[in-house]
Amino acid sequence: LKARGASVEFTVRGRRGKTVVPAVQDIDLDIAPGETLGLVGESGCGKSTLGRALVRLADLTRGTLEFQGTQIGELKGKPLRDLRRDLQLVFQDPMSSLNPRMKVRELIGEAPLVHGLATKDSLDDLVATALERVGMPRSAADRYPHQFSGGQRQRIGIARALALEPKFIVADEPVSALDVSVQSQVVNLLVELQRDLGLTYLFVAHDLAVVDYVSDRVAVMYLGRIVEIGTDEDIRERPRHPYTKALLAAAPEIGRTEAAAPLAGDVPSVVNPPSGCPFRTRCPIAEPQCAESRPELRVVDGHQVACHLV
Ligand code: SF4
Ligand code: MG
Repeated sequence: LKARGASVEFTVRGRRGKTVVPAVQDIDLDIAPGETLGLVGESGCGKSTLGRALVRLADLTRGTLEFQGTQIGELKGKPLRDLRRDLQLVFQDPMSSLNPRMKVRELIGEAPLVHGLATKDSLDDLVATALERVGMPRSAADRYPHQFSGGQRQRIGIARALALEPKFIVADEPVSALDVSVQSQVVNLLVELQRDLGLTYLFVAHDLAVVDYVSDRVAVMYLGRIVEIGTDEDIRERPRHPYTKALLAAAPEIGRTEAAAPLAGDVPSVVNPPSGCPFRTRCPIAEPQCAESRPELRVVDGHQVACHLV
């Protein structure tokens, strides 16, 4: 999957007229087959929107998107519906993404029927296979989402995505709504499925420790832009952006607390971002020049960082 200059803007209509919200700006990304790219940042930084854009659930305002050598940013109609098989999203809150009036059989089987992957006769087998892959019994097919725990519901949500035999999955905070005790089970399930099925992931989370655990590379997002991207080890051992260092300070289980000041202040509005560097209002080492121009990503220490002072 390849994104170039990918940008997503929303137009919000309020009492004072229209406001353009630039949720995602100028993202360049390459995600290789079988790779897990982690995407981390605070809530509201645009990471969910970027994830939705990469699977064509949000439209790009500018930029291009390519999947397996085909431009997909402008696909509509049947070609877009066909593409949806390959690109799936696993949602944060399984309860809100699973229709409570549908039995698990229908929840998992609906899309495969539409895509012609199963007939009414073969559907039970397809659903059973999907359930077994995520460690759920066949009998779950005859029950409703509310009859399961949060962790089980997330397994059903994953089974539903897998039933289409996708190639690329955006997992948007897939464990954030779950009890800590079941988070690691679901994370490990996703890792195993990737290995067994050769899946490619974009793994979105606000928790850098989880992202570090599952990802080959990690991208750090702030106010709609990527501010640092590198291997998981680059980000863990050689973070250069002050924002990445602050996120690491908040993840003591992996973070080097040395030289990392905790994050102060609120996230500014994407509608009225600070001039120059978007992080400067919270940056512990900001200098006057940081207000003048926005730093572009450039290679430092073998990975990319957007900061004037590194
Ligand atoms: Fe901080 Fe300046 Fe670097 Fe932005 S450019 S992260 S304000 S030092
Ligand atoms: Mg989000």
